[in-house]
Amino acid sequence: MARYIDAVCKLCRREGQKLFLKGERCVSPKCAVERRPFPPGEAGRRTVMRRKVSDFGIQLREKQKARRMYGVMERQFRRYFREASRRKGLTGGTLLVLLESRLDNVVYRLGFADSRAQARQFVRHGHFAVNGRKTDIPSYLVSPNDQIAVREKSRSKTYFRERVQLLDSAAPPTWLSLDVSNLSGTVTAVPERDEIGVLLNEQLIVEYYSR
Ligand code: SF4
Repeated sequence: MARYIDAVCKLCRREGQKLFLKGERCVSPKCAVERRPFPPGEAGRRTVMRRKVSDFGIQLREKQKARRMYGVMERQFRRYFREASRRKGLTGGTLLVLLESRLDNVVYRLGFADSRAQARQFVRHGHFAVNGRKTDIPSYLVSPNDQIAVREKSRSKTYFRERVQLLDSAAPPTWLSLDVSNLSGTVTAVPERDEIGVLLNEQLIVEYYSR
């Protein structure tokens, strides 16, 4: 499957916002958005000064921001949108719920990884189980009462042994509960919009796909 392989900090600079794609670096002074708060490329600084963006441009940027935050390619993102439009409720909110329910996002939210990209890699490498079954598909959608755990054979790995110390101070969102001693977490509910702490205007994404 196609993946973005250029420097990810460029994505944040392009959106003019931190997308938190690199774990600890994102909250350090090394963050590229802090050091170079203008779009990447030769014309980056000039663009910031005289940019007038159309409604379409604003909607497009919001959609790209969401895609990049969750690390989802266009075709799959469009599938999520179609699924969200099919379901009951507000399409934008449902779209965010679908994105949040991805296994790689849940692994990240529980604090087992520093970024969604790292979480995706852990899932792909088979370090996680859902309800006791090895699940190595990052896009797997979890549901309430699902239990996500580091697999038995992965618990002895240095990374997960050391991670336990950090998990003690982890604060997962309210729709997830974390059991540090068992290196596992449970989905306690479908997340509400205000429990999904992402800086996105999902209505703009709906408008983008409804043109
Ligand atoms: Fe974005 Fe993190 Fe890079 Fe900052 S350090 S630009 S938040 S990926």
